[in-house]
Amino acid sequence: MANNEDLFKKIIAHAKEYGFVFQSSEIYDGLSAVYDYGQYGVELKNNIKDYWWKSMVQYHENILGIDSAIFMHPTIWKASGHVDAFNDPMIDNKDSRKRYRADVLVEDHIAKIEAKIQKEVTKAAKRFGDSFDKEQFLTTNQRVLDNKERINTISKRFYSSLDKDDLEDIKLLIEELGIVCPVSGSKNWTEVRQFNLMFATKIGSVSDDSNEIYLRPETAQGIFVNYLNVQKSGRMKIPFGIAQIGKAFRNEIVARQFIFRMREFEQMEMQFFVKPGEELKWFEYWKDKRLNWHTAMGIPADKYRFHDHERLAHYANAASDIEFDFPIGFKELEGIHSRTDFDLKAHQEYSGRKIQYFDPEINESYVPYVVETSIGLDRTFLAVLSHSYNEETLEDGSVRAVMNIPPFLAPIKAAVLPLTKKDGLPEKAREIMEVLKYDYMCQYDEKDAIGKRYRRQDAIGTPYCITIDHQTLDDNTVTIRERDSMKQDRIAIDQISEVIRNRLKIA
Ligand code: ATP
Repeated sequence: MANNEDLFKKIIAHAKEYGFVFQSSEIYDGLSAVYDYGQYGVELKNNIKDYWWKSMVQYHENILGIDSAIFMHPTIWKASGHVDAFNDPMIDNKDSRKRYRADVLVEDHIAKIEAKIQKEVTKAAKRFGDSFDKEQFLTTNQRVLDNKERINTISKRFYSSLDKDDLEDIKLLIEELGIVCPVSGSKNWTEVRQFNLMFATKIGSVSDDSNEIYLRPETAQGIFVNYLNVQKSGRMKIPFGIAQIGKAFRNEIVARQFIFRMREFEQMEMQFFVKPGEELKWFEYWKDKRLNWHTAMGIPADKYRFHDHERLAHYANAASDIEFDFPIGFKELEGIHSRTDFDLKAHQEYSGRKIQYFDPEINESYVPYVVETSIGLDRTFLAVLSHSYNEETLEDGSVRAVMNIPPFLAPIKAAVLPLTKKDGLPEKAREIMEVLKYDYMCQYDEKDAIGKRYRRQDAIGTPYCITIDHQTLDDNTVTIRERDSMKQDRIAIDQISEVIRNRLKIA
């Protein structure tokens, strides 16, 4: 397989060629960091949503789903801190005129040092062979220790300057580290400035400032402001959760990396309301549960890792990301945060409404604590795509591009293919299609040689191809070809639906 950057480009090209993801407004040269999902993309996306919704809402009696509006009262974003603090420190390169997030520049620099450590490990592992002790090497090798120390010094200084809003020092650090613009290669930087990520628009017909509202930058606040509604109407007892899937908007500056970082994207969030003091127990519980959700898809566990935050947001008392090994490196896919009572308390204060829970077990009222799980739908889509895209060299030397999408998530579950276009095979195939389409997303295809049609289905990740041949007319059997192994079995027509159902079950 090609190197990672090439692989990433191939995945993006494949996603376009086969109708998964298109650049938005492409015929007008595109809109940066905005994407459209095509005919197969929307199916895969819906299947991921469905998997999340079922495992979070349907399988938990104490989690209820909602769908709140994107537009919300502007004071909500004051209370949540987004108006004052949803900022990224930005820096421009004067030569390329490109704008960067200062934290991303510093983190990329740190990642390069980490890569050096990794290189030392790989070299040593080769040199020492079986007797190599990684732990010992990491704690004793001088070059590794020096590099770890460098990372430590940089992080400490950067985050302390960030906390103090010392933008001058952040610029100084970038200069001292000799960070160059990836486009121009120069160190000719502007000052660092704060930039708010929320999109603002006007509501109603009068255009003065009081009518300014925001496109929500996260779905979570829609849940917090509905806490009382859901708790009361659902007669919920703590601990309980509220979940929702919906669009969020952020005016991201570092808008590269395909659907990893978009300006309009979808989140799947769940806020779990607990008794104060029990939040860290639930935090651990949800970390574990959420990682299982990912690996249960059938993607290998070593593609995921936790990244526990040492530096916490002002409202959190514990936070961890689930990172995925994308072709662009290990990056955040989901955040699990223990948000204390920060949000509900803030809404209580700003709205003047009492937002509390009367706990009959202790005969007391309190503002619940919150543990949230927040996952990007588009990033999960990208994770599935990255894991699934493969180029296989077959026995005859040809290469097949195949998407090994976990079958239960595949856009099309079965393709119905008459072997030839004559002898009544298309009619028989249509009969099968007419029945099967009520059970699964299916596709009928009679154009081109059968081998070519199999390849087309492999390329969009269809796990099963049902082929209707001359024997079908004699004994009402068909072949079912499995995408990954390319193995074919012969089964009776009236068994097709059940065979597929059994094979689609999540392991
Ligand atoms: P990052 O540090 O990558 O900007 P974040 O920490 O700001 O992400 P959260 O606010 O915790 O992200 O949002 C929760 C999840 O929403 C993320 O884990 C990610 O999967 C998704 N997400 C956030 N921003 C974007 C974006 N611009 N495009 C696509 N998905 C996003």
